[in-house]
Amino acid sequence: AKKAVLGPLVGAVDQGTSSTRFLVFNSKTAELLSHHQVEIKQEFPREGWVEQDPKEILQSVYECIEKTCEKLGQLNIDISNIKAIGVSNQRETTVVWDKLTGEPLYNAVVWLDLRTQSTVENLSKRIPGNNNFVKSKTGLPLSTYFSAVKLRWLLDNVKKVQKAVEENRALFGTIDSWLIWSLTGGINGGVHCTDVTNASRTMLFNIHSLEWDKELCEFFGIPMEILPNVRSSSEIYGLMKAGALEGVPISGCLGDQSAALVGQMCFQDGQAKNTYGTGCFLLCNTGHKCVFSEHGLLTTVAYKLGRDKPVYYALEGSVAIAGAVIRWLRDNLGIIKSSEEIEKLAKEVGTSYGCYFVPAFSGLYAPYWEPSARGIICGLTQFTNKCHIAFAALEAVCFQTREILDAMNRDCGIPLSHLQVDGGMTSNKILMQLQADILYIPVVKPSMPETTALGAAMAAGAAEGVGVWSLEPEDLSAVTMERFEPQINAEESEIRYSTWKKAVMKSIGWVT
Ligand code: ADP
Repeated sequence: AKKAVLGPLVGAVDQGTSSTRFLVFNSKTAELLSHHQVEIKQEFPREGWVEQDPKEILQSVYECIEKTCEKLGQLNIDISNIKAIGVSNQRETTVVWDKLTGEPLYNAVVWLDLRTQSTVENLSKRIPGNNNFVKSKTGLPLSTYFSAVKLRWLLDNVKKVQKAVEENRALFGTIDSWLIWSLTGGINGGVHCTDVTNASRTMLFNIHSLEWDKELCEFFGIPMEILPNVRSSSEIYGLMKAGALEGVPISGCLGDQSAALVGQMCFQDGQAKNTYGTGCFLLCNTGHKCVFSEHGLLTTVAYKLGRDKPVYYALEGSVAIAGAVIRWLRDNLGIIKSSEEIEKLAKEVGTSYGCYFVPAFSGLYAPYWEPSARGIICGLTQFTNKCHIAFAALEAVCFQTREILDAMNRDCGIPLSHLQVDGGMTSNKILMQLQADILYIPVVKPSMPETTALGAAMAAGAAEGVGVWSLEPEDLSAVTMERFEPQINAEESEIRYSTWKKAVMKSIGWVT
C-alpha cells in the first residue's frame, strides 16, 4: 500500500507512575496519530515504601515505541517522518545505576515513598543558619518527596550504592536521566543529563542560578560527580541508539507537570493547569519571577525551552494521592475491577451520603505538608455502601484540588476564572462535574487528554536543529475544549468543603 504523506511527526515518551506511553503527533496540527500504553508494576516491600524496577520501566519504553511504530505502519504512516522524540516523566523518583554495567544498583525509589521520614527529621535538626536555607535555594520544603533525601537514604543503606560511589562507577538520575542515558547508548556512550525542570525537584538544584548547588550537596552529603549535566528542556541531547527509531534525536525533556503546562499552552504569567494522575498537581506560570508561597505551595522551574531561552517559573500545589486512591480501591479493596468502573458506582448514588475519605496514604502534601497524616474514611453509618465510598473517593480528589486552588488564589492575588485540566482521571465525567461544583468555577478539558505527552513533543519539535514545531497556538488546531459548569449552589458547595476540612484535621497525627 502507498504510504500517506504527512508533515513532520514528533514522538513523546510519557513515563508516568502508573504507566508508560509512547505517542506520535503531527507537528502541524497536534493531532495524535498513534500511541501505545503499558501499565507499570509498583512494589510495596514495606509499609510506606514504594518501588519500581528501572529495567521494567526502560523495557516498557522500548515496547511502547515498537508497538506504536507497528500501529503507524498499519495506518500506512512512514515512521521515517518522526523527526524528534521528547521525554516526559514522573518526577523526583530516584535511580542509581552502574555506568560500567548499565545495571541499576537498587530499585527506583518512587516519589510517594515514605521511608525517608527519619532521614528528613535528622536533616531538619541540622539545617545551617535559618530554616529557610533549603527553601530559599530550591523553592521546596524539606520533605520525603524530593530526590535528595531518597539519594541520601540509598547512600546510607545500600552497600552496592556505597561501593559504586567509592569506585566512581555510580550515576544518579531521576527517570528522565535513566531513560535518556539508556536510550542514547547506555554503557556505549549514553548521555548523562537532565533538564532544569527535573533538576528543580531534586532539592540539590539552585533555581536562581540554575546549577547544582555546592552547599546543598554538602548539606545532604551528595557527591557532585554522580549528578547528571543540567540542560534546557528543549535541545538535542543525543540520538536513539537502538530500535525502530534508531538515529532519531531526543530533543525534549520535561518533568510531567511541566510538560502538561506546556501542552496546555500556559505560556503567560497567571495561566494554570491541574493534572489528575496518580497524584494531582496544579501549576501556575509566574513568568520569569520566582514567587515564594505563603500558603504551602512550592516554587519550581516551569520550563526553559532552549539553551538561550529564558527560564519560566511556576507555583505548584502538589497532592500525593488522587488516581492512586482509585487504584487502591481496585487493588486493595477489590470493589472495582478497573479504574473506569468507579464512575458507575459513584453514579448509582450521586452522593457520598455524609461519608468523607481523606486518602492521606503518604501523609499530606500541599498545603499542609503533614507527614503524620494517614488515610481515614469517616462519617460511616449502617446505610453506607461501596458506592458511597467510591463517591467519597472522587470527591476527595476535588476537595484536595480546592485546597490548593484556594492557596494559589491567595498567593497570586487574582483568582483563577476557570480551571484547565488534564490527566488520566479527567475521562471521568462525574469527577469533572463534581470538580466544577466544588470549585464553583468552570472546568475546561481539552478533547485530546494527552497534554503531558504533547508538551514533551512540542519541546522536542521546537528544539534548535529540529525546528518542526513553532509553539504558536495554530499548531494545536486539532485540540478542542469541553467545559463543565458549576451546577450546585455556592452555599451547598461551601458546606461540603467545610466538612471535608474537619475530616482532614482528623487524619493528622496518626503517626509520630
Ligand atoms: P500517571 O501519569 O500518574 O501515571 P495517569 O494520568 O496515567 O497517571 O492516570 C492514571 C490514574 O488515573 C490511575 O491512578 C487510575 O487509577 C486513574 N484513573 C484512570 N481512569 C480513571 C477513571 N475513569 N476514573 C477515575 N480514575 C481513573
